[in-house]
Amino acid sequence: MAVRDDCIFCKIANHVIESNYVYEDDLVCAFRDMSPLAPTHVLVVPKQHHETIVDDVPAETLAAMVHAVDEVAKAEGIEASGFRVVSNAGADAGQAVPHLHFHVLGGHRLGDDFA
Ligand code: AMP
Ligand code: ZN
Repeated sequence: MAVRDDCIFCKIANHVIESNYVYEDDLVCAFRDMSPLAPTHVLVVPKQHHETIVDDVPAETLAAMVHAVDEVAKAEGIEASGFRVVSNAGADAGQAVPHLHFHVLGGHRLGDDFA
């Protein structure tokens, strides 16, 4: 998988378009969702393009995404209070951006639905 020039999250993850970053390493970055549904709503994305969590994502990349969730939770001060990680895949999940991302949600008592 490569970086796609027609993909908004490829552009943000590779600084073609700048965003509000919370964490970054060689494989992934985390930035604030533009329409937050909770006090903390951060998206963790791989720098390489994968459409969903089951789109041949290397184990190293998945591990980096989980590490990034931990870094985001610490940086946002929600590690102890709790948080939710969601990854929508496909139409029935309502995936709007077809580039793998984890939503990291927290900072208030989350509801039974998404946030
Ligand atoms: P999903 O429905 O799981 O594909 O979620 C896509 C998320 O990306 C939504 O929560 C949007 O608010 C968010 N989003 C879309 N475009 C951007 C952007 N340019 N910067 C930050 N967040 C974005
Ligand atoms: Zn992409």
